[in-house]
Amino acid sequence: MLIRPQNSATAAQLAGRLAQLRGLLAAAAARAGRSVDGVTLLAVSKGHAAEDVAALAALGQRAFGESYLQEALPKMDALADLSLEWHYIGRLQANKTRPLAERFHWVHALDRLRIAERLSQQRPFHAPPLNVCVQVKPGDDPAKGGLAPAEAEQLALQVARLPRLALRGCMCMLPDGLTAAQQLQQFGQVAALQARLVAGGLPLDTLSMGMSGDFGAAIAAGSTLVRIGTALFGPRPDATHDPNA
Ligand SMILES: *Cc1c(COP(=O)(O)O)cnc(C)c1O
Repeated sequence: MLIRPQNSATAAQLAGRLAQLRGLLAAAAARAGRSVDGVTLLAVSKGHAAEDVAALAALGQRAFGESYLQEALPKMDALADLSLEWHYIGRLQANKTRPLAERFHWVHALDRLRIAERLSQQRPFHAPPLNVCVQVKPGDDPAKGGLAPAEAEQLALQVARLPRLALRGCMCMLPDGLTAAQQLQQFGQVAALQARLVAGGLPLDTLSMGMSGDFGAAIAAGSTLVRIGTALFGPRPDATHDPNA
């Protein structure tokens, strides 16, 4: 089934926000002396309808992020004709890896070897390797997922050996309420870990960092993929769709 945007006012609003966001990403890249071509926009569609995803797809947006399987799978089915690239950015549970391995192109928040092993085992042979990132926690916020940099480094080395996964790099999510300088410092720690892993021989090309509230600092620190929901779709209708909830 091909879903069309039902409401052209919403579609026009989304087009306006996408254009504005592209401008902000380009400006952030320019301030960092980087080309915006090196920053992929992942549109975080959790909490938003398939129609809104279709409206953005019609404007050329290809990559979408979801955090909840029961919400994501029907949306992916409804939009199957559009051949979009789906990223799972939510928390991982060992008993729910199969649909991730079978249906998604990327999984961003790996933090346990056991889950990585299951994803590798369950990735269908006809599909290319599943792209994954290891989640790093640069600060010490107990509410945020991810591994301390030294542990993340160990996990990355183990994940890189799994046959049906393609380790692409590190991912992180910062707590709210940091100053721009703190954001830059924490993103910088993740970028430094990524640089160590690359120097050690891992072919990593993706730093998944930056959300609506901190993508400027993330791009300054070297992010190659920003995960943006609110600044693109507007506020999520349902408060249970908070990051990492
Ligand atoms: C929800 C979510 C985002 C998007 O957050 P916004 O602040 O709405 O841009 C990005 N990354 C992860 C992991 C999320 O859960």
